[in-house]
Amino acid sequence: MTTIIYTTPTMLLKSPQIITMAGDVILNGAVRTEGDQIVEIGVGVKATKADATIKLEDCILLPGLVNTHSHLDLSCLAGKMAPPTSFADWVRQVIAARTEATDMTVADGLREALQQCYRSGITCVGDHVGHLGILPFLLQTPLKGRAFLEIVGPTEERGRAAIARATEAIRLYTPSAKRMRLSMTPHAAYSVHPIILRELLRKSSSDDIVSIHCAESAEEWECFSRAAGPLYDLATSRGLPNFKSMRSPTAYLAQHGSIPNAALLIHCNYVDNTDLAAIKAAGATIVHCPQSHRFFGAAPFPMDRFLETGIAMALGTDSLASAASLNMLTEMQMVKEAHPELSAQTILAMATTNGAAALRMADRCGAIVPGLAADLIAARIVDTALDPYENVLRNTEVPFVVMGGRIVRNVLKGEHGI
Ligand SMILES: [Zn+2]
Repeated sequence: MTTIIYTTPTMLLKSPQIITMAGDVILNGAVRTEGDQIVEIGVGVKATKADATIKLEDCILLPGLVNTHSHLDLSCLAGKMAPPTSFADWVRQVIAARTEATDMTVADGLREALQQCYRSGITCVGDHVGHLGILPFLLQTPLKGRAFLEIVGPTEERGRAAIARATEAIRLYTPSAKRMRLSMTPHAAYSVHPIILRELLRKSSSDDIVSIHCAESAEEWECFSRAAGPLYDLATSRGLPNFKSMRSPTAYLAQHGSIPNAALLIHCNYVDNTDLAAIKAAGATIVHCPQSHRFFGAAPFPMDRFLETGIAMALGTDSLASAASLNMLTEMQMVKEAHPELSAQTILAMATTNGAAALRMADRCGAIVPGLAADLIAARIVDTALDPYENVLRNTEVPFVVMGGRIVRNVLKGEHGI
């Protein structure tokens, strides 16, 4: 009789600096992983016989980055968008491109997008899915996170049809979605019929997080505060009922079912003090997408007002239809550039622990703690005079990425035991 022994891959990663995001930086320590989990961390952690030992010389080990807002299915649009004449024109172009996209073009775009994610250390995403045909491909990737199936439907009939398609996709794909949780979410207030919007906002729960674009552009502010302008015209020409002007886009959301508890509000580039109070009361997280913010030339992002109000902040790349890359290091660098008063540690928290908490995945990722997923990345120590957090922000890509206990990227030289 033959006995088959199934071994679990184990690794010991040694590093001169370990940022855990759950305490002080550990100097000359190690992280041990078993299977897809972190099992031990500290100084003096010893390798077992089974461990592959990797010395990350001149590197900082840190948790994989959480991209709290992406649209991986729009990656096929990279470099294909004409310079938009307005936000409404950009939306129009995306709608047209979406109509032409096929499962194969979307899957090809995803392949390139994944390489960008790995290069910048993204291991977890809050991904908006508009093209359902991406799901079988997306769910095979090592990424973990949430797939938010976007409901777009300016008429009630189209909204109901979108919900039916999303419901069927969730039923079909959830059994094979080991690392991603599937749920549906309204795309934006200007693209969803108010009856459908109200239903989706009220459906929000700890499992069904609402992740909605809100107050992204000056045109969106005009659309809701004046019931006029190019975005209002586009939305109503597509079937959205005419509506009366409100104080702001956020006020419109509140009017149609309230800002759901712990929702993700994507962008919020334009807010007033009443909005801030409502967002704070709802415990919502703002997801700032700096590259996309710059692309649309939005007003300076009100970061200090959000932080002063005590509102949680996370970061996202948005899509390659408005951002030049899916690079969370670039997003963090842009935050530092625009808000030099913020510490690198605060900015890194937005791209790790805050993102994980916003996606309700803090019990799975976002920090280096025993029991969490072995999603680990190494950044280079660029300047020994800088602290580890500042050094992370000096990297434009990361040389080493582990996802779920497996190495998915390694361009280090001279490492041992691989
Ligand atoms: Zn978006």
